[in-house]
Amino acid sequence: MASETATRTVWDCRWSRPGYRLFGVKEHLQPENLWVCVRQGERRSVTEEECEKCSHWEALPEGRTWQ
Ligand code: SF4
Repeated sequence: MASETATRTVWDCRWSRPGYRLFGVKEHLQPENLWVCVRQGERRSVTEEECEKCSHWEALPEGRTWQ
């Protein structure tokens, strides 16, 4: 039976970017989360759970990846 709700993953949103991460640094000292949102012109740390429920989620354009 198919799910009635499409999964909106942070990595499939056109507004998400990988967060800046430092190798060997504990999580609470990392400069950003694993993912950030740039929709409002600033880099804002987000969680996968937040993006699953976000009303601003937009799919990546076909063939495009974030940089
Ligand atoms: S907060 Fe919303 S718009 Fe921003 S990356 Fe997550 S799903 Fe996309």
